[in-house]
Amino acid sequence: MTSTTLMRKQLFINGEWRDATGGKTIEVVNPATEEVIAEVASAEQGDVDAAVAAARAALAGPWGRLSARERGRLIWRIGEKLLEKADDIARLETLHNGKPIFESRQIEVPASAECFQYFAGWADKIHGETLPVKGNYLTYTLREPIGVVAAIVPWNFPLLLTSWKVGPALAAGNTVIIKPASQTPLTALALADIARELGVPPGVINVVTGPGSTVGQMLVQHPGIDKIAFTGDTTTGKAIMKGSSETLKRITLELGGKSPNIVFPDADLDAAVRGATTGIFYGKGEVCAAGSRLLVDKSIKNEFVDKVASRAKKMTPGDPLDPKTRLGAISSKRQLENNLRYIAIATKEGAQLVAGGARADIGTGKGYFLQPTVFDGVTPEMTIAREEIFGPVLAAIEFGDVDEAIARANDSQYGLAAAVWTKDIKKAHYVARKLQAGTVWINTYNIYDTAAPFGGYKQSGFGREMGMHALEHYTQVKTVWVDLNQ
Ligand code: NAD
Repeated sequence: MTSTTLMRKQLFINGEWRDATGGKTIEVVNPATEEVIAEVASAEQGDVDAAVAAARAALAGPWGRLSARERGRLIWRIGEKLLEKADDIARLETLHNGKPIFESRQIEVPASAECFQYFAGWADKIHGETLPVKGNYLTYTLREPIGVVAAIVPWNFPLLLTSWKVGPALAAGNTVIIKPASQTPLTALALADIARELGVPPGVINVVTGPGSTVGQMLVQHPGIDKIAFTGDTTTGKAIMKGSSETLKRITLELGGKSPNIVFPDADLDAAVRGATTGIFYGKGEVCAAGSRLLVDKSIKNEFVDKVASRAKKMTPGDPLDPKTRLGAISSKRQLENNLRYIAIATKEGAQLVAGGARADIGTGKGYFLQPTVFDGVTPEMTIAREEIFGPVLAAIEFGDVDEAIARANDSQYGLAAAVWTKDIKKAHYVARKLQAGTVWINTYNIYDTAAPFGGYKQSGFGREMGMHALEHYTQVKTVWVDLNQ
């Protein structure tokens, strides 16, 4: 692995790069090498105030005056530029997050570009309607932007989850302030640079970097911000809901999960083994919808878990910049320790470790790598069956029949995603209806598309990202009455 030169990055406010008022910076670490790769400005109150003022001015200024179609064209160009710069941006995503370059280059950057281009198409299709009211009135609705949107983003899919918020926000005519996770700010800053190159009017896209506990809080409390679009931890989501209640901001929360992957004996078992494996190990398990609970019918459980464990043993982590690598580094030292803590708890509570379970070394003696880990014999009350680990750790739980599978799947405070594997279509659709989850996959896992809404039931949050449903959360409706009485 080659070392990289230290990058120095500023805040992006009102179309310009600038240092934080206090001159403070935060360090960004490459989790695969443990090297500091960037120093990034750490915003203070004055910087957040300046970003809010710029975003408000842009609403009333050139951005607000652009036609919907021109707005759409500009958003489309953002997608084009992301694709033009895909190699560089994918490299940045891999450097600060530790995910394989294959995932950054082939999946995340193209999906981010697609998100902008999908929402570009909506820009001139957002409109109100005329209403058949009683009396002699013309009554119609206008669908207007909410105003200034703060996009607070986690570190697992830094560019993609930014795009899921910025795409619909801009399509609906809002302006945005992006607050990337402090561990992974580099690709949101690359997006800001694209906005500058394309001549997106100043103040439409701003990026303020720094810790969530300070910069995130400032955004949540700021009276000049109208909406918070948040993805992250459920506990943080609750704090954001409380904090934003002071100013009654609109909020959407995409939070944690403990998604069940249910395998019936009549499934295509080879496909289900592949689905169970990618469901938990794709993205190092740092995927909010990771299939972290494997629910298997007890008649096939031993054979099935054996197959998943032997696939896990063959998946060795590697250098994330190597195009052949399929399992990268855990995003941070803190996350690695968190995974190891859950592995110790699972062992102590009596779960049976059948694959992995330890830190991995890719031959450099550096980096936060973890072996893909599988626990068998997990029971529903165990900690690893209930709490989100957010890492490559799978908990296998058995069930006796369809009703018990549904009950166990729904026995969670979360409800983000779920999957069911069976060749019986009646059973598949019956179970899909009964599952308390925002997304249900049948005979597949981890499939997403910008046209398909994504979001949580229960404590996995509320609101939907992607698809036309996302636009609801970035617009408000005004009713206009015109007296036609002569
Ligand atoms: P996190 O909640 O710690 O941080 C997310 C973002 O919030 C970061 O930008 C952080 O700086 C900021 N933040 C932290 N404290 C804040 C505060 N008090 N006020 C305002 N902002 C604050 O979460 P994380 O550790 O970065 O991300 C992992 C979590 O995200 C997991 O729980 C995962 O399940 C969840 N997630 C959910 C989805 C989804 O779509 N539902 C997608 C990805 C990740």
